[in-house]
Amino acid sequence: MDRSQVADILEEVGTLLELKGDNPFKVRAYFQAARTILSLAADLETLIADGRLAGLKGIGEALNQKITELVNTGRMAYHQELLSSVPNGLLEMLKIPSLGPKKVRMIHQKLGISTIAELELACRQNRITGLSGFGSKSQEKILKGLEFYSGHLGQFLRNDALEEARSVVSFLRRQPGVQRVAIAGSLRRGNEVVRDIDLVCSSSDPEGVMDAFVKEFGTHEVIGRGTTRSSVRLARGLQADLRAVSDVEFPFALMYFTGSKEHNTAMRERARKMGLKLNEYGLFRGDDPILCADEASIFRALELSDIPPELREDLGEIEAADAGRLPTLVADAEIRGALHCHTTYSDGLGTLEEMVETARRLGFGYLGVSDHSQSAVYAGGLSVERLEDQWDEIDRLNSRLEGFRILKGIESEILEDGSLDYPDPVLARFDFVIGSVHSLFRLSKEQQTLRIVRAMENPHLNLIGHVTGRLLLERASYEVDVETVLSAAARNGVAIEFNAHPQRLDLDWRHIRRAVELGVMTSINPDAHTPSGLSDIYASLVVARKGWLPSHLVLNTRSTEDLLSFFGSRRVRS
Ligand code: CA
Ligand code: ZN
Repeated sequence: MDRSQVADILEEVGTLLELKGDNPFKVRAYFQAARTILSLAADLETLIADGRLAGLKGIGEALNQKITELVNTGRMAYHQELLSSVPNGLLEMLKIPSLGPKKVRMIHQKLGISTIAELELACRQNRITGLSGFGSKSQEKILKGLEFYSGHLGQFLRNDALEEARSVVSFLRRQPGVQRVAIAGSLRRGNEVVRDIDLVCSSSDPEGVMDAFVKEFGTHEVIGRGTTRSSVRLARGLQADLRAVSDVEFPFALMYFTGSKEHNTAMRERARKMGLKLNEYGLFRGDDPILCADEASIFRALELSDIPPELREDLGEIEAADAGRLPTLVADAEIRGALHCHTTYSDGLGTLEEMVETARRLGFGYLGVSDHSQSAVYAGGLSVERLEDQWDEIDRLNSRLEGFRILKGIESEILEDGSLDYPDPVLARFDFVIGSVHSLFRLSKEQQTLRIVRAMENPHLNLIGHVTGRLLLERASYEVDVETVLSAAARNGVAIEFNAHPQRLDLDWRHIRRAVELGVMTSINPDAHTPSGLSDIYASLVVARKGWLPSHLVLNTRSTEDLLSFFGSRRVRS
């Protein structure tokens, strides 16, 4: 059981207690324990084995016992007990934007509502407005939230699905007779949310693989079981489909089940025009199979350069591969550092030093620290005084570090009128400034767009953070005209971040493609609030690549000097 799973369960205990109206101090203790576990530098199992867990911040004897039980046995009796004493529907209701534990508890207590369906009915019958603290506006908000929720039902964050898929893959690799195993489908294509996991494997004993797969992962629900294909529903409701084929068929099956459907259709059509036939079993001239050892050989046989899975959407990739004009997409190995991370100075869970240590371990040459600015009171935004403290610490660390530089940055609130959160002389002292919208999501599209464009006209601004503000599966984007923002970025020499946080992946890859056309610079930003969050750059890079993002438009591929001169040039020019 890894840290984040343990933290999830601790948070769920906190939430369940809150739903039950338990003591707020007890509730907070569980959330604090979750934060502590997440920010651990040392290995959780080692800490437990050494009996050092109880000494950590916010972890007393009772919590120590519960966490130890959880890590050692994979479950916590107290958690299970709480789960059975709170209606399932209440936890589900929390997934609706605008509903927190307090409101859900009130709705449940006063109106006896314990399912999403009952909640929707109550809104339609105008019964929510009668509750104290709820007006017609909040009822409207709940209805909108319900709509958003049902529109995303059955979808999962890419990262969550990937975690599940990897554990299935490593299980399959250990099965006798298995030769190749791969993740296919939308997960392989780098989609930001997925509906299911598609897996393909080759084996000398497909039936044996099916048995093992269903036995291991079908404990929750077996949706279908065949000799070469089976589907199960995993614990969190995510469906996993496995196909087992012969090793000769493997590349064809992998290509077919990777999709997309539209891409496959276009590929089949291309084969047909060449007098060939392509399907999930092979490539044929008449009845004769054309052997291909891997996907690259299939592309070669069809006179195409190798098309990366993330581009397979029939959005021009086949034409580009035919003409040898596929872009050189930004790759893991080119990433030289990261901008946009938070430390304990604001709402991060790692200290400046811990963040730097992890960045160095990842092989970075620089780390751009950008805590929240002064108006972000909710996130511990920094006063100028606190900034001075941070800068002093950065200077001290920098004088010690070799081959590494901490850059002084800030994630500045963009205020309502588009101004930034410090006076110009303060802004001038940063190495770089990110501007982000964290408030006033309800502005009209024109107002919101103008607000962001105005911020970009400030010569101290270098980057726009998470342009649309969406939280995948949780909150829709605010209204904003991305096209106008991108053109203004191109015009002003401002970069647009690709926020690599698993729940953001913002700019959307569809918009990245447009940014690339406009020649807008971008930066793959982890927006890390923990040391481990820094590696989200790598986990999410495929999603940025899906927007045809070439290395030369990515700031993180530049040396520290080049990066600083990019930031500096904007300030001189204006
Ligand atoms: Ca699929
Ligand atoms: Zn932010």
